[in-house]
Amino acid sequence: MADVKKLGVIGAGLMGNGIAHVAALAGLDVVLMDVNAGALEKALATIGRNLERQVQKGGIQAADRDAALKRIATATDNAHFGDCDIVIEAATENEVVKQKIYAALCPKLRPDAILATNTSSIPITRLAASTDRPGRFLGMHFFNPVPMMKLVEVIRGLATEDAAVATVRGLAERMGKTMVEANDYPAFVVNRILCPMLNEAVFALMEGVGDVAAIDAGMKLGANHPMGPLELADFVGLDTLLSVLKVLHEGLGDPKYRPCPLLAKYVEAGWLGRKSGRGFYDYSVTPPRPTR
Ligand code: NAD
Repeated sequence: MADVKKLGVIGAGLMGNGIAHVAALAGLDVVLMDVNAGALEKALATIGRNLERQVQKGGIQAADRDAALKRIATATDNAHFGDCDIVIEAATENEVVKQKIYAALCPKLRPDAILATNTSSIPITRLAASTDRPGRFLGMHFFNPVPMMKLVEVIRGLATEDAAVATVRGLAERMGKTMVEANDYPAFVVNRILCPMLNEAVFALMEGVGDVAAIDAGMKLGANHPMGPLELADFVGLDTLLSVLKVLHEGLGDPKYRPCPLLAKYVEAGWLGRKSGRGFYDYSVTPPRPTR
């Protein structure tokens, strides 16, 4: 299959709504599916707001916004995936949840359809083996926020066929993204390097090397990072960061990936970062205030 015309997205959370947004703006027909009807409503509202912001900034025309919104259909079941060329699964980061999704989805897909997962950390080869199409299964790892971030990391499982990678390369380009290829090792390329750095920032905080403001200002001004590591950790979600670190620690067996106990404590407290209103910053005030 050379050209993707219709794309399915499973999971209408943070990443799913971004993927649907960018695909629809690129002219693809999109089916956005979630088991939670409320998540679909919220996703459509977010996409509408984000498209409107692009219009206000002069990046797109009002007609592009309207056409993109019309291209997105929503669903709470798998009934509309039968004519999709590719389905990108961006549901909750839980292996059992994802495998259940594939078991229900695969019989509804065309035999030649590609199934991609946006997982940040679950092995692609293992997920592929639970489907009926390991040759046409791969990782298509977008970055948050999807409309802004240029990268798509494409991860081959052991059985992934070249033709599937070529189709996905064309799709990524059409969506205005640059694709890099990664092999199937824990957390792939970007998170393998990024997450230990964020974890180290939490260790530096726990050990009192610096406070939140010092650590973030230090890395912004001293390493030219656009965001401080603790601000970025809050943005990613501290639960997500912790789970990627666990995957690195277990998958590679090296103590250098040990999650910082302070990070685990924040997650236990429900302080998950921006999405819960509190992490290393308190988001109930403007601008957000460091909490340590
Ligand atoms: P999220 O929690 O914002 O959204 C997940 C959505 O999946 C929810 O709306 C939930 O209702 C839905 N869902 C759960 N079970 C489902 C099912 N059985 N069928 C259909 N929908 C279901 O999560 P997110 O941050 O968008 O992450 C989604 C995926 O993207 C994860 O695999 C995550 O690792 C990956 N990812 C996240 C980021 C990030 O920065 N958040 C970046 C890259 C990749």
